[in-house]
Amino acid sequence: MGKLLIVGTVAFDAIETPFGKTDKILGGAATYISLAASQFEVDSAIVSIVGDDFPQEYLNLLKAKNIDISAIEIEKNGKTFFWSGKYHNDLNTRDTLVTDLNVLANFNPVVPDHFKDADVLMLGNLHPNVQLSVIEQMEEKPKLIVLDTMNFWMNNTLPELLEVIGKTDILTINDEEARQLTHEYSLVKAASKIQAMGPKYVVIKKGEHGALLFHDDNVFFAPALPLEEVFDPTGAGDTFAGGFVGFLAETENISFNNLRNAVIHGSNLASFCVEKFGTERMKDLSKEEVEKRLEQFKQLTQFDIELE
Ligand code: AMP
Repeated sequence: MGKLLIVGTVAFDAIETPFGKTDKILGGAATYISLAASQFEVDSAIVSIVGDDFPQEYLNLLKAKNIDISAIEIEKNGKTFFWSGKYHNDLNTRDTLVTDLNVLANFNPVVPDHFKDADVLMLGNLHPNVQLSVIEQMEEKPKLIVLDTMNFWMNNTLPELLEVIGKTDILTINDEEARQLTHEYSLVKAASKIQAMGPKYVVIKKGEHGALLFHDDNVFFAPALPLEEVFDPTGAGDTFAGGFVGFLAETENISFNNLRNAVIHGSNLASFCVEKFGTERMKDLSKEEVEKRLEQFKQLTQFDIELE
């Protein structure tokens, strides 16, 4: 069993989709990542911060999934990070309505001693300075550093973000953000530019159009499972990342072939996330459901063409 350290927001989200609206519910990049990773045999911990307005019940939920929450700081009189977004009718695009950093604005992360030797470090979406500080606190370089980020940090903290990108092995990013970061429309060119910035591997997430994995001249594509009902895409990218790193931490194998399987596991778990609002679907997802859908993925992508 590998050790997985997850850094990212633990948050309140308010979401609006064409199907409904929620008030403040449990969200955050680290929340989605850790729930997805809990599907694997891994020892995982979160480094994050919340305010004392954050319900104990949410922390208990993570704890019940065997996620080590001892490094989620609870700031007295602090307000938890809050994000609000509204999806367009195609559900593939959204507008951010509010990003209130609150306790995240002055957060100094502390990596617990028992996770300073983690095999995989997942730098989920949050301030690049926090991500950098966590990298610096590790005893030695983890076998794998995976970074996920979003346009908010590109717009507000680009130099710091570029520094983190230079220190990571794999960047997972969505298509629009890859274009924004590299000023390239072609995702092949964008991936190549990102590899020149540091990461050996690049995963470009394309929402309902699947995900691409790039390494040198190798490309692998995984579709998203065509679903009858998509309710709320929030957290799909983080759930993908959680499945991806969860599988890699469990198997402790970072060959291109195994990364391909990790992309499938990530896509598989993301397909559940979008079926209900927020973390609702991921909370009690069973191993049987996950296995069954993996089989569907296999059926969807296998073909047998005779080549001369
Ligand atoms: P995703 O839909 O995978 O991009 O992730 C959505 C989650 O990311 C939500 O639960 C938000 O709380 C969180 N989030 C939104 N904006 C940010 C941000 N600027 N930094 C960190 N996390 C964010």
